[in-house]
Amino acid sequence: MRVLLDLERCQGHNRCYALAPEIFDVDDYGIAVLLDDGEVPPGLEDKAMLAIANCPEFAISLADSTNAGTAS
Ligand code: SF4
Repeated sequence: MRVLLDLERCQGHNRCYALAPEIFDVDDYGIAVLLDDGEVPPGLEDKAMLAIANCPEFAISLADSTNAGTAS
């Protein structure tokens, strides 16, 4: 499982980092950074889904293995 981040949407609310620090970090401006290129560690799928659901800017999405690399 892998997540994608749309940096054009991210407004730096830090919710993803607060909810799933194993998957996200934030830079000095509070903008999200994907750890391990968005690869979700085993067992943390629920946290990833929580972060997706709680991003107010809809900046986080699931990478579909059949559609990898697109962030729309
Ligand atoms: S919750 Fe969304 S808007 Fe906030 S830092 Fe994370 S990706 Fe960016």
